[in-house]
Amino acid sequence: MKKFFFIPLIFICSFSYAAMTARKDIKVGIIINAQSFVAASNEEFIISDASNRKFKLSKGRAKLSFSGGQLLLDTNKIALPAVISSAKGVIFADKKAYRGYLSVVKSAKGINVINVLSVEDYLKGVVAREASPGWPLESLKAQAVISRTYTLANLNKHKHEGFDMCAQTHCQVYGGASSEYLPSNKAVIKTKGEVLVYGGKFAQTVFHANCGGHTEDPKYVWNWAAQTPPYLEGVKCVYCKNAPHSEWEQTIDESFIRSKLSSYRVGKIKSIKVKGKTPAGSAIDIEILHSNGNLTFNAYKFRLAVDAWKIKSATFESIEKNGTKFTFKGKGWGHKVGLCQWGAKGMADAGKKYKRILSFYYPKTEIVKVEYK
Ligand SMILES: [Zn+2]
Ligand SMILES: [Zn+2]
Repeated sequence: MKKFFFIPLIFICSFSYAAMTARKDIKVGIIINAQSFVAASNEEFIISDASNRKFKLSKGRAKLSFSGGQLLLDTNKIALPAVISSAKGVIFADKKAYRGYLSVVKSAKGINVINVLSVEDYLKGVVAREASPGWPLESLKAQAVISRTYTLANLNKHKHEGFDMCAQTHCQVYGGASSEYLPSNKAVIKTKGEVLVYGGKFAQTVFHANCGGHTEDPKYVWNWAAQTPPYLEGVKCVYCKNAPHSEWEQTIDESFIRSKLSSYRVGKIKSIKVKGKTPAGSAIDIEILHSNGNLTFNAYKFRLAVDAWKIKSATFESIEKNGTKFTFKGKGWGHKVGLCQWGAKGMADAGKKYKRILSFYYPKTEIVKVEYK
């Protein structure tokens, strides 16, 4: 008779981390240094100003504007900082809808409008913008976890300006309630509080559009002073193979490239060559032979300097010169570090769950549920 050994659950789960806590609300700078701004609502809303005055406004009727260094409601002067809220509906700021409430403060060059809301509601307006809401739910859930992790790890990014994050690519693209979709909202709700953790700290959940076959070690991309964390060393990925941007070709005029590199005193370009390759197959450096000499610099920086939309990645299959033009053939789109978005979609299409997607692109990390305080 076969003997079975039962391992107590406590040993299997010995990787548990101390509970992670996070602030419940986030302040998002949605309109920065504005000279004018319009607030509205489809429901009754209230403006409370710094002089403890409250202005009740009927739905769909009243608008608030800022001009001449003064916040005005019709002819009433509103003392800043002011709070604009509605117990029933969303508040519009310049025609975009926002959950939570708005805080209007004086800024260096005008006013800042800050959207204050729960981190979870904020994420609904992020996931819909950072990933395609039409993608399979499991890939959206993976995006929700990495966007949440990034958010909670970077809450101090705009501390000196009086808010946590801006609404642009500098932090994360946030479109408010106007940008929400049901599937991306569902992804946020289903993963509520879940973040990616390594060594008891939030993981650096960088991501990109398409890895072209292998994700990249950030040390070749950003010259990180710190050692690459083990979960970002790069993985072989087959899931983005047939997706858009897995292979690309771009022909660019020599004079265009030269104009973009003018600060490097680049003369007429004779040749552009790859110098050294990363284990993932990307160029480490680019060597440019030109009429004033030669220039060698980081391939990722070369891509950004010339045109990151035209040269989609630093993974070159060939660079050929034809007359006055250079033709670049390459694989993938983006810096290629961390999660490959088209690969994540491919994994979800193949029936993989979001936890599997995350452990594939960020191996050795753990999913932990934060406790909001
Ligand atoms: Zn920012
Ligand atoms: Zn990929």
